[in-house]
Amino acid sequence: MSYVETEEQQMLRKQVSEIGRKYGQKYYADKCRAGEPPKELWDEVARHGFIGVNTPEEYGGGGLGIYELQIVGEELAAAGCPLLLLLVSPAICATVIARFGTDTQKEHWLPKLASGEMTMAFAITEPDAGSNSHRIATEGSRDGNDWLISGTKYYISGADDADAILVVARTGGAKGGRARLSLFIVDGKAPGLDKALIPMQLPGPDRQFTLFFDKVRVGGDRLLGNEGQGLSQIFVGLNPERILGAALANGSARYAIEAAARYAKERAVWGKPIATHQGIAHPMAQAKIEVELARLMTMKAAWLFDQGQDAGEAANMAKYAAAEACLAAIDNAIQVHGGNGMSEEYGIALLWGMARTLRIAPVSREMILNFVAQHSLGLPKSY
Ligand SMILES: Cc1cc2nc3c(=O)[nH]c(=O)nc-3n(C[C@H](O)[C@H](O)[C@H](O)COP(=O)(O)OP(=O)(O)OC[C@H]3O[C@@H](n4cnc5c(N)ncnc54)[C@H](O)[C@@H]3O)c2cc1C
Repeated sequence: MSYVETEEQQMLRKQVSEIGRKYGQKYYADKCRAGEPPKELWDEVARHGFIGVNTPEEYGGGGLGIYELQIVGEELAAAGCPLLLLLVSPAICATVIARFGTDTQKEHWLPKLASGEMTMAFAITEPDAGSNSHRIATEGSRDGNDWLISGTKYYISGADDADAILVVARTGGAKGGRARLSLFIVDGKAPGLDKALIPMQLPGPDRQFTLFFDKVRVGGDRLLGNEGQGLSQIFVGLNPERILGAALANGSARYAIEAAARYAKERAVWGKPIATHQGIAHPMAQAKIEVELARLMTMKAAWLFDQGQDAGEAANMAKYAAAEACLAAIDNAIQVHGGNGMSEEYGIALLWGMARTLRIAPVSREMILNFVAQHSLGLPKSY
């Protein structure tokens, strides 16, 4: 692994950053307030081939890796536009389809996901199961060659706009016991699928939905991978999702630190810029160090994943470190801005909602600590 990115990676950073900055934080903030997906930005990023940067070339993608996709996520966030759906459509769905799909499934889904023509949501979380995926109750049962899916999922991002949804369902295992899980691709407008908007208190551009599946029929060609092996298969997508979550946090932290440094150099209340006070400068320097550490772990996790190595520990650590560093950086940036930190004009406080979400999702801080305690330290399972 080199700490100097290739020319191609540096060029990717520059090009994505230029697109992100063309739209900028104000565009993103307007979309958040309107509760509208940032479609124009998504489409432009897709037109340049950056949504599909990690999709194999033979299916219309860039043929690069999760490292490059996390560059896309970080640079857009650093421009003030953290795109939550990058975690889902290209990071989870395209990765899992590319790895486990049949040739026909790959030919059908991947080119449209790569071009941005289509988005795919991802549904694993359930009201009763929460962080415990073994308790998933949404059921897939055979009906001839088809499957019928019934159950409830919640906090499904962008489900209103998604052309399809990758659904994790139970296809075996004793009721109340460990589920045997399988993956299904369900049409976004399938008969029997109802969506209810979850009103959120903090504004974000992508809306969240509860999904009700009432005997939703899918053909046998919508089973992705092997029946009953959904849990191990989905982890191939969950590590990229965590890496992308980390990348969004890293980018948002960079945005906040840059804004704070700019403001601190300009704002003078005692006859000299506030940046000259160490009480202002040191927390910014500390935030910068913590974000750079988080970026290193994010890059390591992406590199491991792209090398086909086990990226689980690094992806968890990266998501943890990045979310914590990002929250601290944003909190400090608000403080540096004084009252202006809370204003629409300066756009800092709005970042907090996404950053705070990244401490909970796609996997919570506590579940990461559980993972590290158990798997890295060999401590007994506590739950
Ligand atoms: C904005 C947003 C977007 C989301 N998008 C999606 C999406 O697109 N698709 C999707 O499937 N899901 C999505 N989610 C759901 C998200 O992944 C879950 O909210 C998250 O995994 C936590 O699950 P939960 O909310 O059920 O919390 P719970 O599992 O109920 O946990 C509640 C609290 O208890 C803690 N806890 C739980 N178990 C333990 C334990 N064993 N030890 C210690 N602490 C524990 C948790 O860390 C948490 O702090 C989204 C959530 C949000 C907020």
